Amino acid sequence: MTFKELNVIEPILKALQEKSYIKPTAIQEKAIPVILAGKDLLGCAQTGTGKTAAFSIPIIQHLHQSNKNIKGIKALVLTPTRELALQIDESFADYGKYTSLRHTVVYGGVSQKAQTDALKRGINVLVATPGRLLDLIGQGYIKLDQLDYFVLDEADRMLDMGFIHDIKRILPLLPKKRQTLFFSATMPAQIAQLAASILYKPEKVAITPPSTTVEMIKQSLYRVEKADKKDLLINLLNGPEISSALIFSRTKHGANKIARYLSKAGISADAIHGEKSQNARQLALSKFKEHKIKALVATDIAARGIDVVELSHVINHDLPEVPETYVHRIGRTGRAGKGGVAISFCSSDELTRLRDIQKLIGVGIPLA
Ligand code: AMP
Repeated sequence: MTFKELNVIEPILKALQEKSYIKPTAIQEKAIPVILAGKDLLGCAQTGTGKTAAFSIPIIQHLHQSNKNIKGIKALVLTPTRELALQIDESFADYGKYTSLRHTVVYGGVSQKAQTDALKRGINVLVATPGRLLDLIGQGYIKLDQLDYFVLDEADRMLDMGFIHDIKRILPLLPKKRQTLFFSATMPAQIAQLAASILYKPEKVAITPPSTTVEMIKQSLYRVEKADKKDLLINLLNGPEISSALIFSRTKHGANKIARYLSKAGISADAIHGEKSQNARQLALSKFKEHKIKALVATDIAARGIDVVELSHVINHDLPEVPETYVHRIGRTGRAGKGGVAISFCSSDELTRLRDIQKLIGVGIPLA
């Protein structure tokens, strides 16, 4: 299957070619025709499956094909974190490069001036995190009465992060007649209920990458006591195999500590977590993407949605408490058909977590 066979139009095909997207991912193959047909979509897919392109391509296509003088905000994408918001906005920029699409992104934690300036210039696609969106609606900068598309991204994460009330305040502000695309990695009862309340006869599209993705990743395990994790990490990062690595720490404090001792050992490193300012996080992320630093140490929430295509190594300095988090973490190395390497440290007090993870993925992680 090619993008052309999915009826993607020429200006978008050209942009995809430039990004070297040879063929659609599974979610794109399933979701693009549904969205182009004007139906609501319930997508069960996580970050890394190509879901952003799956919803942004048809939206760009619709806007490009409709009247050239479209006015007002036609599409709203709600997403839980600033990092995801920025990445989604970047996708609209990339795929819409050869169209006259006007888009912008709004999120909290930064001054609103640049955002309101962009809104005043007039946009058709708005990517937003819930709090800032409500702020700007309240101040009269944003009107959603012209909306054709509403995308709710990472719904389960929204719930975890306590955004449900914000979402419930936003929903009544949307036109009743609209196309709604709802994405969630998991479908617990509360999410299914929310989906049922906002979707009209949705087509369901489910992609479950963990089993296939996990198989493509070379996993290994070090049994190492807490006090020895530092030396092991430094040794691994000094070795010839790892050119860059995303390192997971369970706590913010731990992330800072690891970044500090790596820097002291002469390994360029930075940490990102919820307590760092938005600017500091963005800076660290771009330095990592541009290979200016070798190691990025992250907590799970901060790493959510980090998209580094060339990411070859993930190191779990601590094992996560929730087994599914292990799959999310290591899944970052297996993007779009590229397999990576995932190395995990496990100390005696983490053995229960290891057992739960191995139960979930259905295999034992081999010792390094
Ligand atoms: P997402 O799940 O939207 O976060 O996308 C995951 C990654 O896959 C991003 O880096 C995209 O740029 C990339 N990607 C999306 N679709 C394709 C495709 N058809 N071919 C290659 N890479 C893709």
